[in-house]
Amino acid sequence: MSHDATEHPSPALQKLPEDALAPVQEMVRACIQCGTCTASCPNAFAMDHTPRKLWRMVLMGQSAAIFQSRTFYLCSTCYFCTLRCPRGLPLTEAMDALKATAGRENLKPYRRSSRFYKQFLNSVRRHGRVREVEFMTHYFMEMKDPRLPFSYASLGLKLMGKGKAALQLPSKGEGKLEGLFQAVEDQKF
Ligand code: SF4
Ligand code: SF4
Repeated sequence: MSHDATEHPSPALQKLPEDALAPVQEMVRACIQCGTCTASCPNAFAMDHTPRKLWRMVLMGQSAAIFQSRTFYLCSTCYFCTLRCPRGLPLTEAMDALKATAGRENLKPYRRSSRFYKQFLNSVRRHGRVREVEFMTHYFMEMKDPRLPFSYASLGLKLMGKGKAALQLPSKGEGKLEGLFQAVEDQKF
């Protein structure tokens, strides 16, 4: 498999393993480019490449272009495309696999979202539910951008005013969901 000819891929993209797309290529190998996935997708209007085009790019091995696009990150896991694909392809799982690769390889365009979701899940793992203020504090610390908390300040104050979020002391939690999270990690998808 070869990378596409995107002119100036970032160093992180240049370091992508040659077989980064291989599992996704297996998932969509039987695509007949009918376009049903694009027609079914509620988010296609906002994507830079339609789902149908994305699967073509996957099969062409265009990893640099794919991992600079917003398409798979805008997938909201609604499963419409998966349910309607005439070839029965696991398209939602394929979108998830691209998200997982972007997160694992720490690719810059997706870093903010990846860290946000990671800290959200860490909070659920520790407490069995999300503790909003604690989760956002961990997220800000991981992002190391002193301006970031200010962009969330008015939303935070609004939520606190409505009793939807409260100041909390940091806590390790009871780890009630630890076994569940560990079992999923052990699946090694
Ligand atoms: S619906 Fe299935 S076969 Fe049709 S373009 Fe999409 S992935 Fe390919
Ligand atoms: S699962 Fe993702 S790609 Fe498929 S239709 Fe839903 S939002 Fe679109």
